[in-house]
Amino acid sequence: MSDETPKTTAKQPNKSHGRKTMRPTLQPRELMSHAPDLARAWQAHIITLFPEAFPGVLGESLTGKAIKDGKWQLTTTDLRLFGEGKHRNVDDTPAGGGAGMVLRPDVMGRAIDHALKRAPGPLVYLSPRGKRFDQQMARDWATLPGITMICGRFEGLDQRVIDHYNIAEVSLGDFVLTGGEIAAQAMLDATVRLLPGVLGNADSTVDESHSDGLLEHPQFTRPATWNDRAIPDVLMSGHHGKIAEWRRAMSKDITRQRRPDLWAKHLEKTSD
Ligand code: SAH
Repeated sequence: MSDETPKTTAKQPNKSHGRKTMRPTLQPRELMSHAPDLARAWQAHIITLFPEAFPGVLGESLTGKAIKDGKWQLTTTDLRLFGEGKHRNVDDTPAGGGAGMVLRPDVMGRAIDHALKRAPGPLVYLSPRGKRFDQQMARDWATLPGITMICGRFEGLDQRVIDHYNIAEVSLGDFVLTGGEIAAQAMLDATVRLLPGVLGNADSTVDESHSDGLLEHPQFTRPATWNDRAIPDVLMSGHHGKIAEWRRAMSKDITRQRRPDLWAKHLEKTSD
């Protein structure tokens, strides 16, 4: 038994949508294979009760193509397989009483031990109590060989597991999800797009929101006029210097208005 979760329930690709050549390579079973040419791909490993939720939306568009191209790889450990007894129970009632269920430390511990045999990078638990995920964290993760993520469910993990394995808690934001899977996918998306060659245009990660502490300027495209609204003249001028200047000014305006916290940090760092 390895990280390959049983795929008896995995959905077959929908054959009627004209993407036959691409879809089959994005099936979870394919993703789980460890082809030698993927040995150096950036590795994401997920411990979850819902392995069939992966790659999910990460199998689409640029992140999906990057999987296909061997730029990164996604594997899962199915927590259920490590459950107790005939019913493979993974949770129990909270010590001290109260609502909900807590994931058992022995079950999670077995899944972690199994995953760690070949799982890459730091061990992270998706948790609303964690350090807030941000662009800098995505950048840091992208420089590592990969990452192993634990998705909680119910009331979350038994504290002893977090302490025993010295697991870092990372939050997607100040709200509570029902499970870590969506948070894992959001964080992986942000990280994987920073890997070399994943985005078509390498520049597009340099000039975007949060890349230099400012939010991005407004974007426009054809038609030149829509509902009586014209694209700002400067963008149609072909004058690259003026365009860059305008974009920078808009970037600063928007950041100042919308995110005083980012703006204050920006002012600390620069004099412009
Ligand atoms: N009782 C916990 C919340 C559990 S929510 C508490 O109050 O802190 C169930 C699971 O969803 C968590 O174990 C975690 O893995 C995931 N989750 C919920 N909100 C999250 C967030 N903001 N960021 C990352 N993961 C989150």
